[in-house]
Amino acid sequence: MIDAKKIRKDFPILDQIVNDEELVYLDNAATSQKPEAVLQRIEDYYHRDNANVHRGVHTLAERATKSYEASREKVRQLLNAKETAEVLFTRGTTTSLNWVARSYGDAFVKAGDEIVITVMEHHSNVVPWQQLAKRKKAVLKYISLNDEGMLDMDDAKKQITDQTAIVSVAHASNVLGVINPIKELAQIAHQHGAVLVADGAQAAPHMPVDVQALDVDFYALSAHKMCGPTGIGALYGKRQWLEKMEPVEFGGEMIDFVHAFDSTWTELPWKFEAGTPNIAGGIGFGAAIDYLNQIGLDEVHQHEADLVSYVLPKLQAIEGLKIYGPQDPQKHTGVIAFNLDNLHPHDVATALDMEGVAVRAGHHCAQPLLSYLDVSATTRASFYFYNTKEDADRLVEAIKATKEFFNNGTF
Ligand code: PMP
Repeated sequence: MIDAKKIRKDFPILDQIVNDEELVYLDNAATSQKPEAVLQRIEDYYHRDNANVHRGVHTLAERATKSYEASREKVRQLLNAKETAEVLFTRGTTTSLNWVARSYGDAFVKAGDEIVITVMEHHSNVVPWQQLAKRKKAVLKYISLNDEGMLDMDDAKKQITDQTAIVSVAHASNVLGVINPIKELAQIAHQHGAVLVADGAQAAPHMPVDVQALDVDFYALSAHKMCGPTGIGALYGKRQWLEKMEPVEFGGEMIDFVHAFDSTWTELPWKFEAGTPNIAGGIGFGAAIDYLNQIGLDEVHQHEADLVSYVLPKLQAIEGLKIYGPQDPQKHTGVIAFNLDNLHPHDVATALDMEGVAVRAGHHCAQPLLSYLDVSATTRASFYFYNTKEDADRLVEAIKATKEFFNNGTF
């Protein structure tokens, strides 16, 4: 079991006063905080080992390369990919999804083919497919939600057809707080000869992921949502596809031989990684994975489930508070989007900030979803393993105080 109070000591940033109140950080879906071990590892790298990777023969270059490539192995283990050749370092989920749309999409999608996504996708799992559909004259289709606010699997079976080339779905939603049945969706996609792309930005930080068991063709994730630094993430891809795909960027590091008018590419995974990579970021990502492994992703998942079981009924009991997504705590992750009376979500978030509670307000980069739900914005609280029941109580109390303030003018 996680002792969140003890764990919080690893996160110096959490221990601070904001607007005269102790900080309660509930914006983890936007980015997580970083433990001392990750900060230290990045600092150590710059203090002792800083050098460019792969090309150098001197000791520092060897050390930097070893650490950077060791991180790739850590990502491989995290996802249970078969080999490190299937793990590409990217800038994060957005870049990973763009690479699939650009590289796999340009190679394999034809005019009239279908690209199937869902109404709950983050913009980074919408816009690259819109652009691909335009380039290729393909058809973009959406799977809708059921009455409970979860993915409608009957609709999924209707939308995915023999014309479908790509199905791309969030493993976990950044608004609705649901986990999608990726394994089942991969089976359906494969039955129709399509590939399944999973956007793991909100799943990989919170639960164990096994790309082989899920049988996904591609899996995208960001380090910064899982205790790592910004500017680094990964794309898992099955070797059978990566070998047939062209790199998206060209230049140093990714070539085998450059002739005057043509070039050949080096082997996987480096064929996709042009230019000097984010070395410190990659090493920091590795340290974040070590840290999460030490805690255990099963434990992380359980702790968040316990917090949701604790806080969701308390939130549901507040009159005028509408929570999006499933109402059953067993089906809801630690991402809780809501609206309070007819208050503007930005006003709610600002009022919560005055109470020291950091949440997010807006469209959460999911405008198609908000149109589907017929709201312009929501307030979103999102939990991580270092959050406590006291944090949950502070959220509930701050919402009640906000309600009181806007309705009766007193805090
Ligand atoms: N997909 C989902 C579900 C997300 O929540 C996010 C981040 N908000 C992204 C993709 C994009 O991640 P990044 O900004 O790290 O590329």
